[in-house]
Amino acid sequence: MPQPILKTKNLTKIYYLGQPNEFEALHSINFTAQAGEFLCVMGPSGSGKTTFINNISTIDFPTRGWVFIDGVEIHSMSANEIGRFRSRTLGFVFQEFNLLETHTLYENIAMPLALAKAKKKEAGERVEMVAKQMGIQEILHKYPRECSGGQRQRGAICRALVMNPKIMIADEPTGNLDRRSASEFLELVDKLNREQAVTIIMVTHDPLIASYSSRLVYIKDGVIQQTVEKGGMSQKEYFWKITEINASESKAIFE
Ligand code: ADP
Repeated sequence: MPQPILKTKNLTKIYYLGQPNEFEALHSINFTAQAGEFLCVMGPSGSGKTTFINNISTIDFPTRGWVFIDGVEIHSMSANEIGRFRSRTLGFVFQEFNLLETHTLYENIAMPLALAKAKKKEAGERVEMVAKQMGIQEILHKYPRECSGGQRQRGAICRALVMNPKIMIADEPTGNLDRRSASEFLELVDKLNREQAVTIIMVTHDPLIASYSSRLVYIKDGVIQQTVEKGGMSQKEYFWKITEINASESKAIFE
């Protein structure tokens, strides 16, 4: 059995809002993801999805329990080591794209390489390569405000991929995209997952977007309530299954 790319053991997150207001947002989660999986995280609003994503990607740290990323337990690293580890191992894509408006797409994408002190020539080659993969090599000189939402999101994926990460973390990455740009985004992510075996962990509310994944992780009230493998299901069958799981939440309101 290969070593999982991600593993949590009794992952618990408590937010301290001042005594006696403690709030346990995640309850002792045990979770494993294998390299090359395309995971989709869903669940009602306030169920703990963002807390979970933040805690498995070194953005935040568990109150109790362990998180192993690519075999390394995150508490075993110093703050400096974590920074380096994060930039080498994880790529992030957010709903708001988070591109710097005062920098061109090229400069935005090259930023992680500059921070890692990569040589200019190698950095340039790497930027050109990921931009070509994402089909934006012709517009690298443009500023984010001169680009469409879809182009900006492609720029954000390029920046997430430029360091060749093992895991791509995406929190509602299609939330600001129209349907067409969202499906183009999904096609690119799917290709990345299949051809380069990048592990994808993506939060979304949209069952259609989720139907591109290989496994659904459904979080409710701070626990993983269920996981569903796509397995032998067609994308359409998987889509209906995901829709049903999400709808059962709304149905409960009428019972
Ligand atoms: P989701 O992403 O599923 O909407 P979150 O992970 O953002 O859920 O939040 C889970 C729960 O934790 C919610 O009840 C939220 O109010 C609470 N929460 C999130 N962040 C904080 C924080 N920084 N301080 C206190 N409570 C928080």
